[in-house]
Amino acid sequence: MTRFEYAPAPESRAIVDVRSSYGLFIDGQFVDPVDGPPFKTVNPASEEVLAEVSAAGPQDVDRAVKAARRAYTRTWSRMTGRERAKYLYRLARIVQERSRELAVLESLDNGKPIRESRDVDVPQVAANFFYYAGWADKLEHAGLGSSPRPLGVAGQVIPWNFPLLMLAWKLAPALAAGNTVVLKPAETTPLTALLFAEICQQADLPPGVVNIVTGAGETGRAVVEHPDVDKVAFTGSTEVGKMIARSVAGTDKKVTLELGGKAANIVFDDAALDQAVEGIVDGIFFNQGHVCCAGSRLLVQESVNDELLERLKRRLSTLRMGDPLDKNTDIGAINSAEQLQRIRDLAGIGDAEGAQRWTAACELPERGYWFPPTVFTGVSQAHRIAREEIFGPVLSVLTFRTPAEALEKANNTPYGLSAGVWTEKGSRILWMAQHLRAGVVWANTFNRFDPSSPFGGYKESGYGREGGRHGLASYLDAEGLS
Ligand code: NAD
Repeated sequence: MTRFEYAPAPESRAIVDVRSSYGLFIDGQFVDPVDGPPFKTVNPASEEVLAEVSAAGPQDVDRAVKAARRAYTRTWSRMTGRERAKYLYRLARIVQERSRELAVLESLDNGKPIRESRDVDVPQVAANFFYYAGWADKLEHAGLGSSPRPLGVAGQVIPWNFPLLMLAWKLAPALAAGNTVVLKPAETTPLTALLFAEICQQADLPPGVVNIVTGAGETGRAVVEHPDVDKVAFTGSTEVGKMIARSVAGTDKKVTLELGGKAANIVFDDAALDQAVEGIVDGIFFNQGHVCCAGSRLLVQESVNDELLERLKRRLSTLRMGDPLDKNTDIGAINSAEQLQRIRDLAGIGDAEGAQRWTAACELPERGYWFPPTVFTGVSQAHRIAREEIFGPVLSVLTFRTPAEALEKANNTPYGLSAGVWTEKGSRILWMAQHLRAGVVWANTFNRFDPSSPFGGYKESGYGREGGRHGLASYLDAEGLS
């Protein structure tokens, strides 16, 4: 098969000014931490150290929460929704103006292809701020009662797979609703959150409305457990989510948890197969498979299994893996050495359990953390690769004969974040969507997002919704959504 040769088309990194070290962003200023040694953040595509970042200890977190409380009582909760909206619109516009810089920095720190950070992550960040800016002066019309009130200080902890986008999902509704925030980015991807702190300064956001404390799990724990935090919003692993649920039980903190997933992407025999192949690729190979709602379990109707797999493998052989800053790159680097090891371990378990591994032929760069697009066939429901979240570019393929069997297999998981259905039959889409236990069901598409659409899970994928009016409800003391 013909492989096209592409000349290198690297995006220049000169547009972004990465500092050698960063402080914490508290009360509108970058400040040195009181305790805790700094840590390094690296470029996962080259293992080059990008910067030294501060680790916030309990005293630093306390300072941040105090700043957020002051800003809440003195400024932000007193401001009219219209005034708050002006700041949110300003943030959205500055994100757009500085979008290239943000995209390059995101790709450097995370390893994701520039094509994705430039065309998906950063535009979605701006869209979320624009969307919630529109709600800030209309909260009483959101179907949440006549006078919804903000909760106070929100403590937010986010993962590394969509660093800036997760920040936007957390900050935009919280601020629109009148809360102030202490946010902790993931330890392997703190840089775009710190650049966003500069954007808050540029937008003249009142000091203390947004505070950003960097650090690892311990810093996250200090944010979540701080007694003066009114609302906890966490996105990350189910394991840590359970710990957080335990630690806030019995307090009056309001909590939303967005956790892991093991989504079924279901292809029926009447589906448009080439379209389905694109959806499967988007479902599991977008962002190196580091996506909580990734379509990591492919369920294919037996009669089209061989044909679909042949087309899928052909398509995967055309994906280009390598320099995340190259505009031709489809698959970037795995975010960290630890995550790479986790993926290797689970793939090894797939081999040991008797599934057949197929890997797209591609050259792996010498330095950095890489894992090629991989497909396991002959997978049964009992296999660990069919049950556990791999969070990498690894697809497990199972087959089915009837819609009922597809549904049973799809729902046979402790998770329930998302699912995909591929069929030309509208009635079947509706029937499946009604019976799938998943927060989002995509039909003839996958991994589509819009700020107006709620997102969240069932079962061990967490609770609460982000996005849309539902996302506002999580940050307001209000009646149920009507
Ligand atoms: P993780 O749970 O290890 O870490 C997430 C964040 O929590 C990080 O900032 C980390 O420092 C912090 N943290 C770790 N221990 C903590 C503790 N005890 N208390 C408070 N905070 C703590 O997860 P990860 O490996 O960074 O991210 C991958 C996971 O996130 C996957 O399971 C994925 O499915 C999930 N995820 C879910 C969604 C969603 O919307 N449902 C979105 C993205 C990622």
